[in-house]
Amino acid sequence: MSSDADAAYEHTLRGLEGQRLLRKLHPVSGQNGHVCIRDVDGRELVSFSSNDYLGLAHHPKLKGALIDAAAVHGMGSGASRLVTGTHPAHLALEEAIAKFKSVEASLTFANGYAVASGFATAFLSESSIVLLDKLSHACLIDACRLSGAKVRVFRHNDLEKLEALLGWADRQPDKDRVVIMTESVFSMDGDVAPLEEIVALKERFGAQLLLDEAHAVGVLGPGGRGLAAALGVTDQIDFHLGTLGKALGVAGGYLAGSRAMVDVLINKARSFIYSTAPPPILAVAAKVALEMAAGEEGDARRESLRELMTSLAAELGQQESPAAIFPYQIGDEAAALSQATALRERGFYVPAIRYPTVARGQARLRLTLTAEHTGEQIRALTQAIADYASSHGAV
Ligand SMILES: *Cc1c(COP(=O)(O)O)cnc(C)c1O
Repeated sequence: MSSDADAAYEHTLRGLEGQRLLRKLHPVSGQNGHVCIRDVDGRELVSFSSNDYLGLAHHPKLKGALIDAAAVHGMGSGASRLVTGTHPAHLALEEAIAKFKSVEASLTFANGYAVASGFATAFLSESSIVLLDKLSHACLIDACRLSGAKVRVFRHNDLEKLEALLGWADRQPDKDRVVIMTESVFSMDGDVAPLEEIVALKERFGAQLLLDEAHAVGVLGPGGRGLAAALGVTDQIDFHLGTLGKALGVAGGYLAGSRAMVDVLINKARSFIYSTAPPPILAVAAKVALEMAAGEEGDARRESLRELMTSLAAELGQQESPAAIFPYQIGDEAAALSQATALRERGFYVPAIRYPTVARGQARLRLTLTAEHTGEQIRALTQAIADYASSHGAV
């Protein structure tokens, strides 16, 4: 009998709706990319919502690589890699990621979220201390919770606060490690961490650093290698976290660093050990994507992306952005939803980002660009945003 339970669920949902925090799935389909999508009515929308920054997800070369690989390798992997043997495609991808990141080794997971929880079970315990940037992604927060580690949150990019917390952590007895966790490009704000300064601090205090480059890989640094590579601090990052599902256009996540670090992961990362290995064909495709992103194709796409970023920033009257994420702050949750709906009516798909993804009262539209957008699409979008603002009394 589920009717009592369902009534309780309905109550929960109505509560969320009352706060304008209810989330719904909007079915859409993309035929040739993530830019022009269709909603259920068959209406075409220009999307500014995907993290497929280089526009690789629908690239013919990737599709071809996947289809060819499927003919040879089939679909599912059948079991965990520790149970059924590890497929050479996974090893080849991990070698390619290690080379791309200029580190000794890497291990891939089903997604970036699973990397974070795997990291937690492998490297954190109740005796660990984690210092976490306030705007860190939910997967890092959840990893901290899972680990039972002592967690202290520092104000976003606040080096003084981080320094004070490192001093505090230093004085705690019987700790097994102190780990700073932060992102290089922040997922909802599009700004970057002061990485060189964080690295200097962590070296001074003998702490470790996990850097989540989910939104930097493919976009920042030479060959899209990320912020650590751009700043020449690769060797000082203990744990390089990334996803294969954003700029690389496929799916999966990785942790990269020393060989010994990866060997501990293989032994202790529960989301790796107790999960069926991702299909080898995805590893084949991800390796092709990585090579494209790191090569001339990637350079050309980064150049297009950068031009589009410059023009969107100018149109919005914002500063040049280091990354392809543009928050358009609104504040009120209901207002953000109304504006997203109004934009959809004008033919643009832009997500309203609300609590708990961002703090209450900091709802925003989150505009993301891909190399496949056009200047015309950007001008049309910013015109629609300006029209909405003027018809709703905003300046
Ligand atoms: C998306 C994201 C992840 C998780 O990666 P998935 O492969 O999508 O699970 C981790 N960290 C950040 C900052 C992200 O934005």
